Amino acid sequence: MTKITVAKGDGIGPEIMDATLKVILAAGAKIEIDEIEVGEKVYLAGNTAGIAKESWDIIRKNKVFLKAPITTPQGGGYKSLNVTTRKFLGLYSNVRPCTSFHPFVKTKHPVMDLVIVRENEEDLYAGIEHQQTDEVIQCLKVISRPGCEKIVRYAFEYAKQYDRKKVTCFTKDNIMKQTDGLFHQVFDEIAKEYPEIENEHWIIDIGAAKMADTPEIFDVIVTLNLYGDVLSDVAAQIAGSVGLAGSSNIGEECSMFEAIHGSAPRRAGQNMANPSGLLQGAVLMLNHIGQTEVAEKVQNAWLKTIEDGIHTYDIFKEGTSKQKVGTKEFADAVIANLDKKPSILKPVNYAKGSALVLPKYKRKPNAKKDLLGVDLFVHWSESNPDELAEKMKKLELSGVKLSMITNRGIKVWPEGFSETFCTDHWRCRFKSSEEKLLTKSEIIELLTKAVNLNMDVIKTENLYAFDGKPAFSLGQGQ
Ligand code: NAD
Repeated sequence: MTKITVAKGDGIGPEIMDATLKVILAAGAKIEIDEIEVGEKVYLAGNTAGIAKESWDIIRKNKVFLKAPITTPQGGGYKSLNVTTRKFLGLYSNVRPCTSFHPFVKTKHPVMDLVIVRENEEDLYAGIEHQQTDEVIQCLKVISRPGCEKIVRYAFEYAKQYDRKKVTCFTKDNIMKQTDGLFHQVFDEIAKEYPEIENEHWIIDIGAAKMADTPEIFDVIVTLNLYGDVLSDVAAQIAGSVGLAGSSNIGEECSMFEAIHGSAPRRAGQNMANPSGLLQGAVLMLNHIGQTEVAEKVQNAWLKTIEDGIHTYDIFKEGTSKQKVGTKEFADAVIANLDKKPSILKPVNYAKGSALVLPKYKRKPNAKKDLLGVDLFVHWSESNPDELAEKMKKLELSGVKLSMITNRGIKVWPEGFSETFCTDHWRCRFKSSEEKLLTKSEIIELLTKAVNLNMDVIKTENLYAFDGKPAFSLGQGQ
């Protein structure tokens, strides 16, 4: 018996959760349910996180969380409960299987069967944003080696367990050479440990286009948080409907399972919503807690129901569908099929399923870290970079010289183009001479001089080399 935490959520949430629980209990799931309240009511009662402290205690104690969609009220500084839960509980891996059910659910891609493994905690979703000048706001893209190693290893272990043949990595490392570059590098390192699984890397833009056009050439896709967020909705939609896909969020200790769609408030309380997305989430949960036979039974019964043409309104299509049903009737139809298997769609076999146990991340020895220079970011509302260079040169120290100025990443001094559009946000790079490294005291000296000259430095960024390899981007055009 596994105790799980259940949140029925908002909108269509309670109806699809009732239907889901009814199906899995009828199939013999050995679960005990601890229900908590999250979402709209909690937000509107003044809790901006949408969840009470006692509910966190229950989630952390039970470790397995089945969650229906919730409504985040607009405005008012309400935080997304999904993002908070993923990060607080260290749910680093988001897994979304996207399969088409041709000819029973309309799709342009009849043989699509791929899984997107998305990094879930880092990237632009770290949510570190600052306005620095009148014209410029920045969002930090944070990528860590442990984050990359954990998700890439998860993707390969998932492929191994579910007999998948290929793992494809999507990044944009031709542009983001440091952040996406690390993800790609870690992918290449870890892929070597799995010689039996094919591996490949695509630049995300052409990769995404290819996925939307010929998804059948992909098997498991592993990618960074933002790309994975966008791509997995596209994949679910082109497979047939976002209403059919579930997802798991897995961490070292806890896990959360859900539908990928939202709370569809306009459909709430009408017994219309399709419970399939949440049911798919529940199947992932049953596999994760080792109840693989029940998971298999539910999934095959669900496939049989889809194949029988018993469809909710969202996937109902005259000609292919046979019977339009409501949420409850759909659940009952799945229950009636519990000992059956589909005959045209491929039945599933989860004999090898169970929680993936991955080694804990081991920190590597620190590299030799040399300070080569510093970027001073300056708020300056004039437009001629040569004038700014004249001012910034007054900060120079012995052996520490202004080497470059960029605006939004493009080099504008020395030898910039007069056509380049400049904002009020300038990066002034100071480098130490070849013979010596910069010191932290010299950075303070540079800043003190800037204050005395009334230059508005809004942030600094140190320029390091790790084990002799410079680890910062050059100016575009440098
Ligand atoms: P949505 O996914 O709720 O709805 C998009 C469209 O799909 C609507 O037309 C809806 O009727 C339909 N739809 C979605 N699920 C369906 C189902 N199971 N059966 C039949 N039709 C279904 O997206 P939205 O309208 O952008 O968001 C509504 C609310 O949901 C917002 O408050 C949003 O913040 C929230 N949301 C929550 C989650 C979550 O909790 N995981 C995810 C996304 C959005």
